[in-house]
Amino acid sequence: MNLETYAENTWCKGCGNFGLLNSFKDAVSELVEEGALRAENMVISSGIGCHGKTVDYLNLNSFYSLHGRAISCVSGMKIANPNLTVVAFQGDGDAFGEGIAHVVFSAKRNIDATLLVHDNSVYGLTTGQFTPTSEKGFKGKSTPRGSIEEPMNPLALVLASGGTFVARGFVGKRKHLVGLFKKALLHKGFSFVNVLQPCVTFNNTYSRYRESTYILEDEGHDATDFQAAWGKARETERIPIGLLYQVERPTFNDLLLEGLVPAEPRAPPLSAISEIISER
Ligand code: SF4
Repeated sequence: MNLETYAENTWCKGCGNFGLLNSFKDAVSELVEEGALRAENMVISSGIGCHGKTVDYLNLNSFYSLHGRAISCVSGMKIANPNLTVVAFQGDGDAFGEGIAHVVFSAKRNIDATLLVHDNSVYGLTTGQFTPTSEKGFKGKSTPRGSIEEPMNPLALVLASGGTFVARGFVGKRKHLVGLFKKALLHKGFSFVNVLQPCVTFNNTYSRYRESTYILEDEGHDATDFQAAWGKARETERIPIGLLYQVERPTFNDLLLEGLVPAEPRAPPLSAISEIISER
């Protein structure tokens, strides 16, 4: 299926955002072809940052949210209409700086939504400030002598908050990333994929990730074992990518609404919609 839009792409040449965007397009197209997903039932949202333009580049229902609020926006949509498939795109500063409380509570509540984080460990749009996931010693516009803070661990954060699908991908491993996105979109509950996607202009980490990442699925990791996932989330020398943890538990909608669709009584009858279309 064609998910292209007419919007001109303004990302820097070689930006890791391209790998994430194209992997998501492949994942959605494959799921639609397999009959597992309906594109017209999808709503995507993004926050503020270079990643935010993702919604301009995908021909899906979309909503540009405030800084750090994409996951809370799609959470509201999902509560109003549980029949939707909702996806939030956020940057690492957006998700773990401005919007960290929304990430924690989405995981705690097990909102049936997917959160894909474009993690390049830098604020690229504002030209190179450090973010919550920047390495200690990172030199940028706001830390010219090097950051004195230890980086945040997004995987441990979401595991500790109650996430039921916790994964990490790397844009340099495209086929693997497509597979992760497909699993995340099909998971019932809060799906979190932290995507390593280098910013070639302000924090080019391609060679480090190429040298240090390894695929969990190749090493027989048990994704139902919380303690094993916790151990993998805390590895730093080698960087595991893949599905760390996946379990099932009731979603927020299951517990709150028990099958009710609040949007339904407000929706106009189909005849009214047909009338509007025929008038045009
Ligand atoms: S500044 Fe960095 S994140 Fe932004 S488009 Fe350029 S390479 Fe990508």
